[in-house]
Amino acid sequence: MASKLVVECVFCKIIRGEIPSVKLFETATTFAFLDIGPLSEGHALVVPKFHAEKMHQLPDEFLADSMPVAKKIATALGADNYNVLQNNGRLAHQEVPHVHFHVIPKPSTDKGLIIEWPAQNADVEKLKDLAKSLKF
Ligand code: AMP
Repeated sequence: MASKLVVECVFCKIIRGEIPSVKLFETATTFAFLDIGPLSEGHALVVPKFHAEKMHQLPDEFLADSMPVAKKIATALGADNYNVLQNNGRLAHQEVPHVHFHVIPKPSTDKGLIIEWPAQNADVEKLKDLAKSLKF
């Protein structure tokens, strides 16, 4: 499958085999390897073989098997508890500007992903207004 990869991107270079990675799995549109700075054993990255910075910029055909590949990796790792994480933009903790999904086993409270979840009480009428205002 034809894909757009760029010269200077670290994940494009990994996909092209120009810099080393510990590969786990590959399809025509997706490349998966172990994270070099793991939050827990087995922390993996699922990377579409198309250079887009953020998920909404990625063509659907390159997004299509990201979750099936993430599922295969979670299954192979035998992780009972795990997080699938995808960051978009620096403010949202994205460091590598090439779309990727983390699969992060959560073997214990102190290993794996540790997050804050500052939930607020929603006004349901405001939620409805927001839903109505969105165009898909
Ligand atoms: P994010 O903050 O979502 O952009 O996460 C980027 C992830 O890429 C981090 O967890 C890094 O440890 C990982 N990473 C960066 N460079 C490499 C590399 N060469 N090989 C494997 N993982 C990498």
